[in-house]
Amino acid sequence: MLTKMCAEYAVEKVLGNKMGRWQLPLPSGTLVRRCLFVCKLLGAEAPPRIGAQYWRMVHNGWCTGRRFQDSSAKCVFGCDSEDSIEHYCRCKVVREFLCMPHPNGPGLPIEIAGPSAFFLVHQRLTKKTVLKMAIALHAIFKARHAHKSGQPAYARPLKVSKSFFHSSDHGLYRG
Ligand SMILES: [Zn+2]
Repeated sequence: MLTKMCAEYAVEKVLGNKMGRWQLPLPSGTLVRRCLFVCKLLGAEAPPRIGAQYWRMVHNGWCTGRRFQDSSAKCVFGCDSEDSIEHYCRCKVVREFLCMPHPNGPGLPIEIAGPSAFFLVHQRLTKKTVLKMAIALHAIFKARHAHKSGQPAYARPLKVSKSFFHSSDHGLYRG
């Protein structure tokens, strides 16, 4: 029992610190509770790579320019902003993709688009939208990585994100 309590405490403390990095307008306890809810949802209803990507993103695990102190690295979606998760969660191009209706995007309602929705902790996100958003975030991650790997076929990252979104779908969401 004590071990279980300690484990839960450690998770909440560590995750609270990780989520605090993103400066979302929610109390730490709420962030942790919603993040854990998302993890359980993805673990139960999405392919493992989708949940793994979400966990990696929350923990600043993308190999961005900012993470590697390369201030010259720019947003791969064409902005003149830095290559960082801090930017991508606010990026206008990413937002445009996230707000596109299915099948081109996850159909995030424009009025709640922003960092809290990007990290899947906005209170108005339904389970279905969380699942679609998680797939779209995986698509963004893959498109960004492909672009950074210098693959010429990925010269238009947003277009590739959309195609990754289609290929990542795998029947998880229909309609
Ligand atoms: Zn951008």
